Amino acid sequence: MSDNIDEEKKALILIVDDTPTNIQVLAESLRADYRVRVAGSGKAAFEIIAKVGAPDLILLDVMMPDMDGYEVCRRLKLAPETKNVPVIFVTAKADTVDEEYGLNLGAVDYIAKPFHLPIVAARVRNHINLKIKTDLLESQVMLDGLTNIPNRRRFDETLEIEWKRALRDGMPLSLIMLDIDYFKRYNDHYGHGVGDNCLKKVAASLAGSIDRPSDFVARYGGEEFVAILPDTDATGARVIAERFCSHVESMKIAHGFSDVSNFVTVSVGLASVIPTIDMTPTDLLSRADERLYQAKESGRNRVC
Ligand SMILES: [Mg+2]
Repeated sequence: MSDNIDEEKKALILIVDDTPTNIQVLAESLRADYRVRVAGSGKAAFEIIAKVGAPDLILLDVMMPDMDGYEVCRRLKLAPETKNVPVIFVTAKADTVDEEYGLNLGAVDYIAKPFHLPIVAARVRNHINLKIKTDLLESQVMLDGLTNIPNRRRFDETLEIEWKRALRDGMPLSLIMLDIDYFKRYNDHYGHGVGDNCLKKVAASLAGSIDRPSDFVARYGGEEFVAILPDTDATGARVIAERFCSHVESMKIAHGFSDVSNFVTVSVGLASVIPTIDMTPTDLLSRADERLYQAKESGRNRVC
């Protein structure tokens, strides 16, 4: 069992080469440290990626029938899910013009055949280490520093992706927008340190109130939070919105300066649509924002 877990953590390398002996030699030398998949053609490489997801690194032969390595690289760099995967060309076409061409397509490295295995292994290791660091940095850029939940930037990206998916599949998409009632008074009276703690607790409560992997909560800014609920209609979204309200109130964070409760509460606006071509994600966002305004106008600590 623990072996399987370790195996899962290993980086995934895809080797693409039309010569079986090349593949065998490379794959055998890398198998001790990485998970290795092999493809005998560009087409097979894309089939593997569609099935198992983007690898952490691709070793790519240039000369292959049908689709050559340059074309494979070009397509990889065009697709959002593979554009950041490092590609190393491993090829007998190794004069400087070829090398320049390959690097300009976005490859990170170029190894000439016949290759020296320890050098291939060392270059692979260097590029994998860089990839791991880049991935980590990218995930941190998308997190809100105070509350450790996704930030506005990640929200914008996710909304764009989920909008397109819902539009394509003809499925409903719901958006929840909420903010903490009388948070300015809370901050003014208890101080910013206590205010920050309150934001952290509310963020954790909201993140703990969703259970489907596709549901998403982010800090929108200040004391405002948002949730994206794919494949969820207004009825389903209302259940989640009510849960946000009740979970926050049930933490019983004392708020002596709220007009609606002795505790910290939230006002929630929700909007739900089946996206169409003539609408944009911004329309959904402004509808949720209007509902949030209504929730505040009609007395706060409620869902609209
Ligand atoms: Mg070849």
